[in-house]
Amino acid sequence: MKITITRWNAISTWQWDHPQDEVCGICRVAYDGTCPTCKYPGDDCPLILGECKHAFHMHCLLKWLSTESSKGLCPMCRRKFNTAT
Ligand SMILES: [Zn+2]
Ligand SMILES: [Zn+2]
Ligand SMILES: [Zn+2]
Repeated sequence: MKITITRWNAISTWQWDHPQDEVCGICRVAYDGTCPTCKYPGDDCPLILGECKHAFHMHCLLKWLSTESSKGLCPMCRRKFNTAT
């Protein structure tokens, strides 16, 4: 009896793009939720995306930038925070 060995050289090209952080870096609530000061998502609690690709709830960001220790920097990477346009 002859045994045929089928070489199975499957190369998986499937890659699950898995973003590390899908939560606001300030309040740790998911982007599709609201910041702790808002109750309902969507309406007045938009996300602000920075040039550094970090995103935060608008209210969290405003609160952060209004503190003196922020120095206008992104709380995640400490680069100057400019909103991406
Ligand atoms: Zn937040
Ligand atoms: Zn909010
Ligand atoms: Zn950043």
